Amino acid sequence: MTGYSSPAAGNRLFRRLFSLVLAIGLAVTGLPQATAAPAPPPSMEFPFARGQWAYSGGIHTDTGENGGVQNAIDLLPTDRRVRAAAAGTARRIDCPGKQGVPWLKIDHGNGWATGYYQTKDISVYDGQWINAGQEVGWVGTALDACGGANVGEHLHLTLWKDGRPNSWHDMWLSGYKITTEPRQWSGRFDTPDGRIIWLPADFRYS
Ligand SMILES: [Zn+2]
Repeated sequence: MTGYSSPAAGNRLFRRLFSLVLAIGLAVTGLPQATAAPAPPPSMEFPFARGQWAYSGGIHTDTGENGGVQNAIDLLPTDRRVRAAAAGTARRIDCPGKQGVPWLKIDHGNGWATGYYQTKDISVYDGQWINAGQEVGWVGTALDACGGANVGEHLHLTLWKDGRPNSWHDMWLSGYKITTEPRQWSGRFDTPDGRIIWLPADFRYS
C-alpha cells in the first residue's frame, strides 16, 4: 500500500491543480481589464487669456439639435483671441465642398480632442505642436467656418473622445466645474472660489 493512489490523495492533487489553473486564469484575464481603464481627460483651461470679461452662451449639442451629447460650449472673450485649451497637435479639418475653409481641432492624446469651430484667421498649421494657452486664431462666425446658424461671433468649443462627441458634464476648465442641464444653451460653472454661474452669462475670468 503506497498511498499514492488512494482516493483522498487524488482529491487533494486535483484541488491543488484546480486552484493553480484558477489563479492563472484570473491573472491572465485580469490583465486586459487593468489596461482598459479609461484615460482621464487632459487638464484644460478656458481657450482665452485671463484678466478679461467673457460671455458664455451655454452648453449644447454640437449641431444644436436636441437630445444628443452636449459637447459644445459657446464662448466670447472680450479680446476675441482664441487659445488652446490644452497642449496637443493641431488638426486643420477641411469642410466637404468648402476647400480652404478648414476648422481647427487639437489632439491632446489618449483619444481626447478639443474643437475650435468658428475660429477665423487660424494661425497654426496642420500637424503643428501647440502649447497650452497658445494663440491659434480669432473668434469668428459660422460664415467663417463650415456653415451653421450665423448668430454672431463666438467660439463653439467642442470636446471629443475617440472621435465621438464627449459631454462637458463633470468636466473642468481652469478649475471651473461644468454641469450641463437638459435644456440646450444652459448649464452652470462652479468657480474655484465657490460661486455658481448660471449660463448663459457674462463672467470675469481672472
Ligand atoms: Zn455653439
